[in-house]
Amino acid sequence: MKPFDLIVVGGGLSGAATAYFASRRGARVLLLEKADLNLAASGSNAGSIHAQIPFEPYRALGPDWAEGYAATIPLFMAAIDRWSRLEAELGGSLGVSTKGGLMAAASDADMADLERKAAIERRAGLPVELWDRGDLARRAPFLADDLAGAAFCPIEGKADPFLATPLFARRAMDHGAEIRRNAPVQAIDHDSDGFVLETPEGRFAARCVVNAAGAEAARVAAMVGLDIALEGHPIQVAVTEKRPPLLPYLVYYTGEKLTLKQAAEGGFLIGGGWPARMRGAPWVDPVSLARNLAVAQLVLPALSGAQIVRSWAAMVNGTADWHPILGEAPGVPGFYLNLVPWMGFTAAPAVSEALVDLALGLEPALDLSRFFLAA
Ligand SMILES: Cc1cc2nc3c(=O)[nH]c(=O)nc-3n(C[C@H](O)[C@H](O)[C@H](O)COP(=O)(O)OP(=O)(O)OC[C@H]3O[C@@H](n4cnc5c(N)ncnc54)[C@H](O)[C@@H]3O)c2cc1C
Repeated sequence: MKPFDLIVVGGGLSGAATAYFASRRGARVLLLEKADLNLAASGSNAGSIHAQIPFEPYRALGPDWAEGYAATIPLFMAAIDRWSRLEAELGGSLGVSTKGGLMAAASDADMADLERKAAIERRAGLPVELWDRGDLARRAPFLADDLAGAAFCPIEGKADPFLATPLFARRAMDHGAEIRRNAPVQAIDHDSDGFVLETPEGRFAARCVVNAAGAEAARVAAMVGLDIALEGHPIQVAVTEKRPPLLPYLVYYTGEKLTLKQAAEGGFLIGGGWPARMRGAPWVDPVSLARNLAVAQLVLPALSGAQIVRSWAAMVNGTADWHPILGEAPGVPGFYLNLVPWMGFTAAPAVSEALVDLALGLEPALDLSRFFLAA
């Protein structure tokens, strides 16, 4: 069995991007996906391109946590820059639009928190403007008129989760990568020569393995004796009927969980991490749905009367401190982790490229070392 240079476990955006960047650099690559490409979080998410420190953990964990978490800002900024160049590089539409993200304050106290958070973000290099009530009325007159102000980050936006993973996978195959669907990795043997991955389709050898298994990454890591603190959480999103263009921004709200944006086709995507139920697989929770829609309508009154055409749920990969887990696993040379929690859709292109460079012994353009697992 001739070993691959690199085997990727998982066919979401992280896995497909890893396969693309590695094969483009001339590596012999195999991607193993247990079901089909893009069926998990990468194809089910809300498509927000984030950079601001999210408000919910900021409120729960405080400014000290935010100072540490700000280390992810260069990573998200690099990712947004990467998204802006991907359509030309991959030769297809990804629905990328970065007209800015507006975090709206529910109260004067929340606005004061946004100001403190913006100071941390600016020190990390993120462009953030603070809008008072007058700015909001002028620049976002469609939002509720009782909001206390907002933090505006001009580089945030959206991309299309249906398009990104399939296009990366197609281009990876163009560069010679092999992709096997219905190939769950069930066990991994490893010694100083490399790795042998067992699937019902057979055994595959590689010098390097990249764990890009999303919400199931802890199970894959355990196959090489690694214990990582990553869990899957069922969350949900909804989309309305098509409406005329109104909302250019990605909108968040400090008062409750919310992300809100209008797709190019006209539907409003309403999410923010509301919990779904588990019945073997994630199911939409009607209580979460009703509350999510109520918050969206509170912030954008024009949503009143809009019909919901679809709501769906999926597992998101989460870590308690929101930090990514990246790089070569201590004690398991050649085994790499490509795990960005909660906002991994945004981060995947730049992080996967840097991780591939690490695995192939090249100099990465992005420093991931802050997120390596401690030995
Ligand atoms: C509802 C929802 C909304 C979200 N909204 C956003 C958003 O707006 N913006 C944002 O940036 N992020 C968002 N996220 C988070 C984002 O989608 C994820 O962080 C990201 O997609 C993770 O990508 P991934 O490729 O690492 O994992 P996934 O897309 O979960 O892919 C992992 C793949 O690994 C496969 N796999 C698992 N175990 C094995 C195995 N043993 N063998 C082979 N294959 C295996 C799975 O079948 C799956 O296909 C959202 C997530 C959800 C669920």
